[in-house]
This record gives sequence, C-alpha cells and structure tokens, in this order.
Amino acid sequence: MTASSIDLYHPAIGDFMPEKRFMAAAIEKTFEGIRSGQTPFGACIVRNGEIISCEHNRVWETTDITAHAEITAIREACRKLGTVELTGCTIYSTTEPCPMCFSAIHWARIEKIVFGTSIRDAADAGFNELAISNQELKKDGCSHIHIVGGFMREENIELFREFAARPGKKTY
Ligand SMILES: [Zn+2]
Repeated sequence: MTASSIDLYHPAIGDFMPEKRFMAAAIEKTFEGIRSGQTPFGACIVRNGEIISCEHNRVWETTDITAHAEITAIREACRKLGTVELTGCTIYSTTEPCPMCFSAIHWARIEKIVFGTSIRDAADAGFNELAISNQELKKDGCSHIHIVGGFMREENIELFREFAARPGKKTY
C-alpha cells in the first residue's frame, strides 16, 4: 500500500472526525463477534449520516466462508432498503476489504471505503489473505471508488490483539 494512492488517515486532520463514530460502531460490533467465537472483522454501511447496517464476520457461525463482515453488511443493507444498489453509501471496514468483498462493494455501487488495518495486518494475524490491496484492485479494475486507509488504525489493531488472546481461536 502506498501513500500516493490511498488517503492515509492522520489524527491531525480534523476532517475525519465526524466519521469516527461509524468506525467505532464497526469496532464495537467486531468485539461482539469475537466474544461469540467469530473472527476480528466488522463493517458498517452508512448513507446520509445514518447507519444502515452494522455486522461482524459470521464465517464460523454459519460455516459460510463468504460470510465476511462486508458481505453480511451488504446483504443486510440491501435487504433493509429493498434494493441491490447502495449508491451514496460508505462502508467502514475494520480491515481493508479482501478482493471478494471489494468486488461485492463494487457490485453494490458503494462509493467509498474507509478501513482501519490492512490486508497485510490480517495476513500477519493468520488469515489466508490474497495479497492484493484495494488500491491495486481499484487501479486494475478501473474503479472510481474513494478509498481511505489506516483510519483509527490503533483502535482496529486492538481487535487483532483481542482475537489473538482468545483460547480456541480459529482463523481460515
Ligand atoms: Zn472479505
């Protein structure tokens, strides 16, 4: 990931402040997931300053390898709004979306991704990530999506620490 193509969050930049509560909601949901035996990932979908859906990863709960937080949040938002188009929405994801989720975000026409930790952080935590960044996906896929990375990184790193400390934790 290079700073040239992704807007890196910096605490000194006040513009991001209103967005903190949406990421905080995703983080809180993720802690809930970790406590119930799920993996340390969450996502929150927001439109016009309103949370439409907020989900944690449910892969082990449902034995569905595609039940990543972003996918479950997209499913819930589409169900609630009765549409498959999430135009005007932003997704706050505790970790950089994997290529599967990035594609789902693209298909749903979500306009902006804000993420905390990176795909590399998730790989370091033991997850079998494909090493393709969102910026590479954006560039190679000619996507116009806006991407903000490293947002509330410290708070999001804490999710991996919490997960690592759990006995019986399972990655995939
Ligand atoms: Zn994913």
